[in-house]
Amino acid sequence: MAILLIEHDAKILLAARGLSIPEGQAMRVEGSAAPEKPGPWVVKAQVPAGGRGKAGGIRLVENAAAVPETARELSMLRIGGFPVDVVRIEKAVDALAELFVGITIDAATGEAVLMASAAGGVEVEAAGDKLTTVHTQFDAAAMHGGMARLAAGLPAPASQAVAECGALLVDNLLALDATLIEINPLFLLADGSWVAGDARMDLDLNALPRQPDLERLIDTQKVIYADAAFKLTHGYDLVITDPGGAVGLVATGAGLSMQLLDEMTRRGLRPFNFCDIRSGMMRGDPSRLIENLRTLQQAPNLRCVLVNIFAGITELGEFAELLLQALDAVPELEQPMVVRLVGNGEAEADATLRASGRPGMMLERDLDRALQLIAEASNA
Ligand code: GDP
Ligand code: MN
Repeated sequence: MAILLIEHDAKILLAARGLSIPEGQAMRVEGSAAPEKPGPWVVKAQVPAGGRGKAGGIRLVENAAAVPETARELSMLRIGGFPVDVVRIEKAVDALAELFVGITIDAATGEAVLMASAAGGVEVEAAGDKLTTVHTQFDAAAMHGGMARLAAGLPAPASQAVAECGALLVDNLLALDATLIEINPLFLLADGSWVAGDARMDLDLNALPRQPDLERLIDTQKVIYADAAFKLTHGYDLVITDPGGAVGLVATGAGLSMQLLDEMTRRGLRPFNFCDIRSGMMRGDPSRLIENLRTLQQAPNLRCVLVNIFAGITELGEFAELLLQALDAVPELEQPMVVRLVGNGEAEADATLRASGRPGMMLERDLDRALQLIAEASNA
């Protein structure tokens, strides 16, 4: 799971590591104040989503006194599904040109993908053809070499700016376990120097234990990084994807859970949540399952629950015991439950669940038939 940082956090992190950024500060919309220095200022909505410019979330204000009012206007917007509670106020930059430089990882090959353009700004994401890309092995030397080649292909003075900023991005992507860093626009100034107009950074949530500073950053902003903070606190993923959903999910494996959501949606069912409970790491403790069931129980339209555990290391006999304990702890959850347990200890799990005689529990090993039962329970 990747966490997209808000621009302000990405900029502060990278500025501490050498990136040049415009002077600015973050403030909550409530209680925002006019900056002391005269404008022009840029007021920028801070949400973990791209495309803020197109959504009207970036405003230029000539007059410093107008900053709080503009911030309040932005707070009326929702961008990428997120409310705007925080803005970054930044000195407007008078740029000669807007460039683009970024790095990501090709999920299929594990290679680094280096990207640059002498024509950045809000249009570049749409116009992929303006981007030049270079693929390299994922190591510092190869990536530095690739970035230098990429920069050399651009006209001066963009070339120098992309080379300098790009080298810094390579070092920081590796040092921070980021999976993506993108500077767009990279403002090129009249004197040939540059400053990062925007910064997008995706962190690898699984690498956070190695990154205590980043972990603290996520943890102190539970509202902005709600899903990531949940995983940090609880050690697993549970995300409400459709508050009006009818099917609650208890599942393990991020990829499997995603596939299950897709498959349900394809069949016209409305799943309520995504869940990777990491059943192999529960260590005989039902608390994750209890929390999961309590969350499902709060779904206003819940009609049924699907438990889908396709286990490699999980001992399903033990899992079945824990599931029964969790159900005892959440008696309010009375909706029918379809349980599909496949893997190690399947037979014991089956015997345990049958012996419990729980009303409304259906055991089904076959995915297709399990989803059929879910469809019937949803429509009942
Ligand atoms: P995004 O749309 O979420 O990527 O937000 P950006 O921070 O990239 O802002 C969108 C666009 O606003 C940029 O591409 C610039 O064209 C413009 N912009 C933002 N800040 C400034 C600034 O300080 N000066 C100028 N000239 N343009 C700015
Ligand atoms: Mn941008």
